[in-house]
Amino acid sequence: MADIFTTSKRSQLMASIRSQGNLSTEQRMLSILRANKMRGWRRHIRLTLRGPNPPVQHGHLRPDFVWKRERLALFLDGCFWHGCRRHGHIPLTRSAFWSAKLERNMERDRAVSRALRKAGWTVVRIWEHDLKDEANTVHKMFKAFARTARNRSVRSNQHRRVSCSSDP
Ligand SMILES: [Zn+2]
Repeated sequence: MADIFTTSKRSQLMASIRSQGNLSTEQRMLSILRANKMRGWRRHIRLTLRGPNPPVQHGHLRPDFVWKRERLALFLDGCFWHGCRRHGHIPLTRSAFWSAKLERNMERDRAVSRALRKAGWTVVRIWEHDLKDEANTVHKMFKAFARTARNRSVRSNQHRRVSCSSDP
């Protein structure tokens, strides 16, 4: 099937899908956090993974929500961009391109989670579709907070491997 978009049109389209997705999942998570009185989070904090061969460029990451003191990073994974098995799909147009791209996204997600955990962080990934079930999302967050204390004591010597910085 012929590609109906030019390259620049396609990247515009991709950018708009990405930002729309982030907005709605972030807003939903915000309202769940507020309704359940979960505080102490920051948004748009940049974490930097130290050490050779970071899974992302310059080791820079931006989780959707960060609890700095607890060293907990929350990622909201959109069903399309992060390859949800239930709701994700490979577009029919340019399917090889999309399949490779989504595969890279998923591999990067796994590598980022691994690197953060290795550095003593607790990582929670919540699917876009999970946000429809508030009780389940809250349960996941409580379980994650329970893990933070354990991770802190076990891996306290690893903390220097991630640094935080806020946006100017
Ligand atoms: Zn899904």
